[in-house]
Amino acid sequence: MDLSFSKEDLAFRDEVREFLATSLPADVKDRCDRGLHPTKEGQVRWQKILNEKGWMAPNWPKEYGGTGWTITQKYIAAHEFGHASAPIALPFGVSMVGPVIYTFGNQEQKDYYLPRILNSDDWWCQGYSEPGSGSDLASLQTKAVRDGDHYIVNGQKIWTSFAHLADMIFCLVRTDSSAKQQEGISFLLIDMKTPGITVKPIIGLDMEHSLNEVFFEDVRVPVKNRIGEENKGWTYAKFLLGNERTGIARIARSKRQVERLKEIAKAERSGGRPLAEDSDFSNKLSRIEVDLMALEYTELRYLSMIASGKQLSAEPSLLKIKGSEIQQRLTELLVESLGMYGVPYEPERSYAGRNEAPVGPDYAHGPMAEHLYLRAATIYGGSNEIQRNIISKMVLGL
Ligand SMILES: Cc1cc2nc3c(=O)[nH]c(=O)nc-3n(C[C@H](O)[C@H](O)[C@H](O)COP(=O)(O)OP(=O)(O)OC[C@H]3O[C@@H](n4cnc5c(N)ncnc54)[C@H](O)[C@@H]3O)c2cc1C
Repeated sequence: MDLSFSKEDLAFRDEVREFLATSLPADVKDRCDRGLHPTKEGQVRWQKILNEKGWMAPNWPKEYGGTGWTITQKYIAAHEFGHASAPIALPFGVSMVGPVIYTFGNQEQKDYYLPRILNSDDWWCQGYSEPGSGSDLASLQTKAVRDGDHYIVNGQKIWTSFAHLADMIFCLVRTDSSAKQQEGISFLLIDMKTPGITVKPIIGLDMEHSLNEVFFEDVRVPVKNRIGEENKGWTYAKFLLGNERTGIARIARSKRQVERLKEIAKAERSGGRPLAEDSDFSNKLSRIEVDLMALEYTELRYLSMIASGKQLSAEPSLLKIKGSEIQQRLTELLVESLGMYGVPYEPERSYAGRNEAPVGPDYAHGPMAEHLYLRAATIYGGSNEIQRNIISKMVLGL
């Protein structure tokens, strides 16, 4: 494994740093740094800047608008984005449905949707999970029945992140109930404005609205919106899940959180001394740092394997488990480091009509919201128990 960066890689790192220092809007950076959900306007504005630079889709092949970066360059960019608190592009379009479209879609679908994803013209959401079909996704019940040039879709999706902001949803639907579970599923692209779609909010632990239920009642979807073959959707769905788990360890973000913790530990006091000198605090932080370093080197080892043409199997599951656990430990320690100022949760610290100062120092705004939201990190993207099952099967042969 060669972990040293070449002169070209270091020049690339400087270019990314310069771009982020000059192009990342301060308000977008601020929300990302605090771990708050992006606003649609801010996220789209930032994504359009990325697209103008040609950096919207690092993982896409160049012919469809990808950057053509080497694996090392992708790693460097992810690290610099995390360090600068620059949001990555929202995954549902560029990381999930985009690769499905350029891999399995027809020419018309590629020509229409891919440029729109790159330019953030469509905000996408993911219609996979249903009540009763999460880990056991292949048992999904939302039905699509053929009626001439259309499918008529009926059913319900749940936990659909950002569906209330979305223009499009990609959905797994059952098109053959008589076939084996995995064999009767199709993959549809559905316009959220189609009559018969109702979106209902689910308010999360963090008291924010990012999750939804999506109901389909006799929704007419053109057959031309189906990806690939009818009843072969499970193949495309699994391909997408593989992409979802790549990068879910969010190592660069966690490294930024370590920096934040160190900044806060200098400002906060415990027992009359800076928190940074508190042995219990430094002990906890050091343990996380060691685990994070081990995770980073593990990821680098996998990158090196990919670069030398080797295939990964259960490795993304390991990254997902350790990465999500570290994210949770970090926000827990962030909240703890704020003492009583970590407790109040105020989604908006300043709003019209407020005549009191917000509680606590400025850096106390955000950690509690992120801490509560990230309780879900060990569930979404395939729960950690399911990832452990994958490892036990593929690595241990159990
Ligand atoms: C914040 C958040 C955002 C999400 N966003 C989206 C989205 O945008 N689109 C979307 O489609 N879905 C989304 N999801 C849904 C997510 O994919 C599911 O919650 C997840 O797959 C788990 O499914 P479930 O909730 O039905 O739980 P279940 O599958 O019912 O699992 C319940 C518990 O049982 C455990 N379990 C289940 N089966 C096994 C097994 N075989 N072995 C061992 N343990 C098992 C699980 O690990 C879990 O702890 C989101 C979820 C969250 C929390």
